[in-house]
Amino acid sequence: METDGIKIKTIEIRLPIEYSKGELEQEIARIVGSNLFFYDIILKSLDARNKKDIHWKMRINVIEGESKYHFKSNTLEIPYRKRHKKICVVGSGPAGFFAAYVLQKAGYETIIIERGSEVAKRSKQISNFEQKGEFSESANYAYGEGGAGTFSDGKLTSRTKNIDREKNFVIESYIEAGAPEEIRYLSHPHIGTNNLIKVVRNLRDKFEEIGGKILFETTLQNIEINDSQVVAIETDKGKIDCDYLFVASGHSAYDTYRLLLHKGVKFQNKAFAIGSRVEHLQEVINLSQWGKRKIKGLKAAEYKLTHKAKNALPVYSFCMCPGGKVVQASPRNGLSIVNGMSYYSRSSPWANSAIVAGIYLPELLNKEITPSEALDWLEKKEQVFFELHNNFELPANIIQNFIEGKGSNKFPETSYSFGVFDYDFRELFPDAIYQSLRKSLIDFSRKIRGFEEGLLMGFESKTSSPIQVIRNENYLAAGFTNLYVIGEGSGRAGGIISSAVDGIKASTTLIE
Ligand SMILES: Cc1cc2nc3c(=O)[nH]c(=O)nc-3n(C[C@H](O)[C@H](O)[C@H](O)COP(=O)(O)OP(=O)(O)OC[C@H]3O[C@@H](n4cnc5c(N)ncnc54)[C@H](O)[C@@H]3O)c2cc1C
Repeated sequence: METDGIKIKTIEIRLPIEYSKGELEQEIARIVGSNLFFYDIILKSLDARNKKDIHWKMRINVIEGESKYHFKSNTLEIPYRKRHKKICVVGSGPAGFFAAYVLQKAGYETIIIERGSEVAKRSKQISNFEQKGEFSESANYAYGEGGAGTFSDGKLTSRTKNIDREKNFVIESYIEAGAPEEIRYLSHPHIGTNNLIKVVRNLRDKFEEIGGKILFETTLQNIEINDSQVVAIETDKGKIDCDYLFVASGHSAYDTYRLLLHKGVKFQNKAFAIGSRVEHLQEVINLSQWGKRKIKGLKAAEYKLTHKAKNALPVYSFCMCPGGKVVQASPRNGLSIVNGMSYYSRSSPWANSAIVAGIYLPELLNKEITPSEALDWLEKKEQVFFELHNNFELPANIIQNFIEGKGSNKFPETSYSFGVFDYDFRELFPDAIYQSLRKSLIDFSRKIRGFEEGLLMGFESKTSSPIQVIRNENYLAAGFTNLYVIGEGSGRAGGIISSAVDGIKASTTLIE
């Protein structure tokens, strides 16, 4: 490959699990036959197919000689000019933040409103919740600075195609804000909650340094519309006029969804997935994936499982958090929603993941339903899980007993802070979901030795939104001239990267 007249050679190398920079460079020198070179790692992945020979595989770009060439990634160019237009962005999650950041860099006057607290306060309130059970409606796992993904495992994978420039912009911004360099090339990059807290804080500083404004503990309550055009928003702290409105409120904010529907924003039902979280001892997963309880130099083994039994719904694992913790991600008192998080070290003794069945609600319920009814159905389910004990304790079962249709009178220790209790999930899930989960758990227990000993708990309802906004090719909500609904709440993105990219794509259509 030749770039700017410079010859770049791409090589593949393999290295043992523990290696030094010197060993990496020696291996490159051996392959290119020279000690004088520049290099750039473009992909690093773990090859654990043969448990007796687990090693790193790397793809590396190398330039031989004494070139002064700087490797650069294909990233976003943002043209700046003073634009004298005011943009309001609702939500400081990945979609809202990156839309606002790009627009501010392009010369707009951008203001983010966020119903939750800034990240340091949010951190304290989440600790209070976990340790003393004091739930805060403005600072929890769903709401607050950085959005739903701040207190997460911070996996940065995405299956969306043709997003290289936007994705690289997000990754480079995260690295500039303190994320580890390796997220640039790892095949399964993750940041971890401890790094995310720092990254989100530093990104806010960068946004404010270029003139962006952010108002915390400020909730969108109404939108003033004049002839298909948003003219202002009303918040609990007052009115803000705007030329363009970007709503990036995620998919936990039922009140905001209902406001959008009430204001005539068009949504349609879409397929999504629900189920429960499962938790295992990390050692069980390591043994199954690596053949060893621990490997020096590696954090914790991952898994990805899918199964489709005959006449059943497709079931798959989602958002696996190795060395992590099961958390209560409800945005308000009265609902119960499980999710998972981890720190960068991924060093807790537990591994968890969502095990969910893919559904399309009109099909599952065998009747036409409106998007508003789809939201009601899901919220009601989250409420049912809460109301079993009127608190955040989770109904649970040992996987083997779930498979056999029995209850459990003893549970293994769990990472979840609010405790679990025995409950028959047949009363909680529609039969099609219950039976599909059961069949798939049998299959997963064949694939991962010891899987059946794990604990299944709670309601996992936030893999993606049950509804999707209808928007045109310029990302504008159908029928509006200046309203964008973006990120996970739009039903057109899911996960940190794809939500951030959705925000960027929408904002760049406005700039162009
Ligand atoms: C515990 C947990 C772990 C996760 N782990 C991962 C992971 O490892 N990798 C991954 O890719 N994804 C993960 N996710 C999912 C990921 O966080 C989301 O996909 C992503 O954050 C969606 O981004 P978003 O900007 O669209 O919405 P969100 O991040 O949900 O942000 C929406 C923001 O809008 C604010 N808001 C809502 N309504 C209003 C209103 N009316 N007024 C003002 N503000 C409002 C909310 O407070 C929130 O901060 C995880 C989620 C959770 C909860």
